[in-house]
Amino acid sequence: MAEVRTEKLCKSYGIAEILKDIDLTVEDGSFVVLVGPSGCGKSTLLRTIAGLEQSTTGKIEIGGREVNDLPPAQRQIAMVFQSYALYPHMDVRGNMGFGLKFAGFPKKEIERRVQEAARILKLEALLDRKPRDLSGGQRQRVAIGRAIVREPEVFLFDEPLSNLDAALRVNTRIELAKLHRMLKATIIYVTHDQVEAMTLADKIVVMNKGRIEQAGKPMELYYHPANLFVAGFIGSPAMNFVPGRIVETTEQVLTLQSDNGLRLALPRQAWGTAAISSGDQMTLGLRPEHLKVSGGTGFQSGPISLSGAVDLIERLGDIGYAHIRLGDGSGAPLVAEIRSALPLEINDTASVTTDLEHLHLFDSEGRAFAKLAAKAAA
Ligand code: ADP
Ligand code: MG
Repeated sequence: MAEVRTEKLCKSYGIAEILKDIDLTVEDGSFVVLVGPSGCGKSTLLRTIAGLEQSTTGKIEIGGREVNDLPPAQRQIAMVFQSYALYPHMDVRGNMGFGLKFAGFPKKEIERRVQEAARILKLEALLDRKPRDLSGGQRQRVAIGRAIVREPEVFLFDEPLSNLDAALRVNTRIELAKLHRMLKATIIYVTHDQVEAMTLADKIVVMNKGRIEQAGKPMELYYHPANLFVAGFIGSPAMNFVPGRIVETTEQVLTLQSDNGLRLALPRQAWGTAAISSGDQMTLGLRPEHLKVSGGTGFQSGPISLSGAVDLIERLGDIGYAHIRLGDGSGAPLVAEIRSALPLEINDTASVTTDLEHLHLFDSEGRAFAKLAAKAAA
């Protein structure tokens, strides 16, 4: 297997810059997941690494070798797409071996590799079947098998599970995790599914408008998002944002006047000596699952205390979400996770607090202030 590296990689179509200065390192044998909104350039990045698209400027290395000028076939990669496009008239064996046959591999070697891939993917009993006699999950495994038989240095996956129904996606995801452990393969994987990203990745790369916003271990991005974009993208339901302005600072307290008219006393100590002054525009970030909710006002003691009227309650089973109107009611309601058993109804007043280490604060450019409490805990 091999490491993949890009350096200042740029890709334009005409005057449209699609990828901008992408510096990416995918360590040998690691599973890297690319996430980001639709159209941010994930597929373009994969296709450029694969050689299906020519980069405009910058460098791509696979296994320490610069591959910018190599055709796809010589880059030692195999790609699996969302639409697996199997040949309908060929059986599973034929579909998996076709690429090798086309490349002129000897029959015996093709059979060996197909058998091996079929064993890994539990397709042995299905080798003589045609695609129409397979389930969606089995077809997707054949598509993965087609990649495995090529024994590539690097696997590229572009949303491979998004055509499968929910239950099958879960199964196939678990199989993919096992497959990665077994093959010790270098994998770059695109998905829009949070759970896939969090569970499969050694490293998640969050992209936005052709740039990398942040790259890191899943839990690192979750606990220490570098900016508003990543904070809002990782985590579900999304982090709540309370925008406002600092109106007073003392050694103990930062007072945030929110745009919807709340006056919040934030513990200064959470951000150490970070330069925060009166007048600064700030956004407070609070994850729904880190909020503690009770009925009535003022029951909670904690580093912050918010209260408002309940707009909506969604009970999903054991847990649920309360949507709470804050301040003058302008701006998005605060979404807070609750136990479904909590006796709370629409129009009730709820009060909310959280722990010190779960407060996020972002400056006017959207950059996160590092948290002392969280650092100490990490
Ligand atoms: P993603 O996979 O993150 O959804 P893509 O990489 O497919 O995004 O696309 C990124 C941007 O590049 C989109 O705005 C898309 O319209 C544009 N794009 C993709 N392929 C082409 C092409 N062949 N010509 C022009 N623009 C393209
Ligand atoms: Mg795409």
